[in-house]
Amino acid sequence: MSNDAVSQVAAVAGNYSNLEYDLNKGERGTRHKITEVLLKELTGSEAAMVVNNNAAAVFLILRTFAKQKEVVISRGELIEIGGAFRISSIMEESDAILKEVGTTNRTHLYDYEQAINKETAILMKVHQSNFKTIGFTHAISTKQLVNLAKKYHQPLIYEDLGSGSLYDFKMGNEPVVSKVIETGVDLVSFSGDKLIGGPQAGIIIGKKELINKLKRHQLTRVLRVDKMTLAALEATLGNYLREEFNNIPTIRDISLPICEIEKRIMMFTDHFNNNDNKWIFKIENSASQVGGGAMPGIEIPTLVLAVKHLNLDSHTIHSRLRQGTSPIIARLKKNHVLLDFRTITTEDIPIIVEVFKKIE
Ligand SMILES: *Cc1c(COP(=O)(O)O)cnc(C)c1O
Repeated sequence: MSNDAVSQVAAVAGNYSNLEYDLNKGERGTRHKITEVLLKELTGSEAAMVVNNNAAAVFLILRTFAKQKEVVISRGELIEIGGAFRISSIMEESDAILKEVGTTNRTHLYDYEQAINKETAILMKVHQSNFKTIGFTHAISTKQLVNLAKKYHQPLIYEDLGSGSLYDFKMGNEPVVSKVIETGVDLVSFSGDKLIGGPQAGIIIGKKELINKLKRHQLTRVLRVDKMTLAALEATLGNYLREEFNNIPTIRDISLPICEIEKRIMMFTDHFNNNDNKWIFKIENSASQVGGGAMPGIEIPTLVLAVKHLNLDSHTIHSRLRQGTSPIIARLKKNHVLLDFRTITTEDIPIIVEVFKKIE
């Protein structure tokens, strides 16, 4: 997380905090207040709240607005993400009735329209976070669903953005949250710790009346976050508001220019010029992939350092690095151990040098 987030957590953890105390009124306040103000400003939404993670957000929304009612979703968006979280399964747990429409590759507006009946509570969009459908495809936009719902004076439009982004990376197709809010969507949820680069959290934004209903739900207490999460999120959102994007490691690393990566490689290899050096290094062109399945198919050009040792094969090098005093997880590709300095900061370099020097 950003340095601001880290120090804010330390401050809140070791001191008194006014998390649930309203300093102006001198009485019990609400823990949502500060992050809500920041989120409204950053996304243009009417209201906001934070729960434990985005999985919790999806569950809370479905349970609150669609218990024993129908949720219409495209077959192309019935996704599974890492850790075996499935939209279809969480829906079942929430007691919402899944009404799947369209096909894996193509879903039309008439598919949604034909599914709407008096039992329909939500038309749901789910961002295909970790995969892509290409070729003969068709999907309906959130804006089109918003217009469709207007025609029928129901149901709610809810979009699960998965990662969500408060920053325009200008690559991949991660939607910028404020653009999604502009469509007039009722509710949006996304993770605090994927592309946002903050603490584990689920962020829910949207229409005030609906968010108020969520805040009052019994489950909100069950899914609520700790003061340290809120402190970290508040500081991270502050970075966004002040446009300090380079303070957020996720954005900084994804946007890092090649020349900076090359400089870091040089800083590292400079430590190995002596005669008893057993390491053989070679700089190669390669590509970085965004972690956690975010931005599928996007390869960011990078430079990697291919690492060889006079006496050890690649698998041995890879495992020794993992078992060093500071474990280093390198990339192993076609029997080559590769270090991508995009995610190795200049402060990390001396630590990595030490681990390398200890491997005989
Ligand atoms: C990651 C993801 C979730 C779950 O979010 P967590 O914050 O990891 O709980 C839900 N929906 C989609 C589309 C996702 O990509």
